[in-house]
Amino acid sequence: MTRRGERLRGRAGQRQRQRRLERSGYLCELCADRGLTVKADVVDHIVPLAKGGLDVDENTRNLCDPCHVKVTAEQFGLATVARGVDRSGRPTYEGHPWNASARQ
Ligand SMILES: [Zn+2]
Repeated sequence: MTRRGERLRGRAGQRQRQRRLERSGYLCELCADRGLTVKADVVDHIVPLAKGGLDVDENTRNLCDPCHVKVTAEQFGLATVARGVDRSGRPTYEGHPWNASARQ
């Protein structure tokens, strides 16, 4: 038995992830706010579990990898900025939709 808010493992966790991704039609919610259609890669915790957030649907959102890197960098500081984004969190990959207008 798991308590509400506890992270699920294994098959139950997989089903939970699928169900959460379905909520946004498998699309990145931050990109959708910008009018972009980008496939979501991860289910992100809005309040990170490491900061006491609960593993409940209301604390999750679906993000693409670049958005996930960006919000994670904002939550934990620039020390965690990963490859693939510049210091402002913008994806450096020129094929990313955020950079589409810069290529004209
Ligand atoms: Zn995105």
